[in-house]
Amino acid sequence: MRLFEYQAKQLFAEAGLPTPRGAVANTPEEAAAAAQGLGRVVVKAQVHVGGRGKAGFIKLADNPEEAAAHARRMLGAELKGYTVHQVLIEQALDIAKEYYLGAVLDRDGKQIVVLFSTVGGMDIEEVAATAPDKLIRLAPDPLVGPQNFQLQEMVFQAGVDPKVFRAVVSAAATVWKLFQRYDASLVEINPLVITGAGEVVAADGKFEVDDSALYRHPELERFRQAGDEDPLEAEARKRNLNYVRLSGDIGIMANGAGLAMNTMDVVAAHGGKPANFLDVSGGARADVVRSALDLILQDTKVKGVFINIFGGITRGDEVARGVVEGVKQLGVQVPIVVRMAGTREEEGRAILREANLVPATSAADGAEKIIALLREKGA
Ligand code: GDP
Ligand code: MN
Repeated sequence: MRLFEYQAKQLFAEAGLPTPRGAVANTPEEAAAAAQGLGRVVVKAQVHVGGRGKAGFIKLADNPEEAAAHARRMLGAELKGYTVHQVLIEQALDIAKEYYLGAVLDRDGKQIVVLFSTVGGMDIEEVAATAPDKLIRLAPDPLVGPQNFQLQEMVFQAGVDPKVFRAVVSAAATVWKLFQRYDASLVEINPLVITGAGEVVAADGKFEVDDSALYRHPELERFRQAGDEDPLEAEARKRNLNYVRLSGDIGIMANGAGLAMNTMDVVAAHGGKPANFLDVSGGARADVVRSALDLILQDTKVKGVFINIFGGITRGDEVARGVVEGVKQLGVQVPIVVRMAGTREEEGRAILREANLVPATSAADGAEKIIALLREKGA
């Protein structure tokens, strides 16, 4: 889950890291109200992309009317494919310096690294490319976390103004703490602003939380917004189904994440394009299968479904009955191929055949059959 800038800043502020005064607005009127009493403000579009400044989605305003005018222009507009639904109105900063501070999961190094640079404001990739010596990296022991002296050394190496040294070190410690506490994959403050008065302020914020860890953070629910998540994936979560929407036209259902991935691979290897990943887990009962099939078919791209169930605990006749019942109840129009292996597979296949569904004997056989059926229909 990616947080918006204003949400990231909320977490920063709660952790004691200074952020500019301000509020989020959904309408130009709200923007004007938020700007009231703040003097000069900055109007910032809340979208999940960077480079807003250059694109004209960060604007200074001298009074509430101007703030409303900027908000009116930004709200509903598109930036790199994202529609702006909210703007953040903040007291403008007296910027003396812009630093960069971040923590990111380094997948190659299998560890979290803290990054700091006195060259902030621009893309950190650009700093890394043009002035690599200006980007200081700290890879602390993940279990112990960065020791204060390590953070001090990092900030010292970067060469910050001694007046803000302690505040920057403390900001770095906070970033690490937040990263750990929320199971983040990225926390970034760019720029970390040093004001004319020598304060250290988080002027921007990026925060990404590992989706697999979200169940451990019910306190982040408040940041979830309608329309944030794919509607089908949200529905799947409600139904306790493990579903990821993809771009193809062949719906996939399997029991077990490994088998689901393998089924996608087999379909792809035979020239088909999976429309989703869906794992109905262990004992796929009829009601679960029906619910899963219903979900898959809500994706209007789906032109056919391949169900791959490996039995054991899962009974083939149960699965077959679930599919048949589901197909009947849902009024399914698209071809469905089912491969079942394991307990009572013969009984299962008989039930399928009776209902005019297509049984397959192996994953490869199933993939070939569903692809052939789609071609037939397409022709
Ligand atoms: P980004 O372009 O999407 O990364 O948005 P930022 O929040 O980083 O803003 C881009 C730039 O706007 C900053 O690097 C500043 O140089 C500039 N800026 C000018 N005045 C202000 C201000 O009062 N607040 C903030 N946040 N940025 C300002
Ligand atoms: Mn930025």
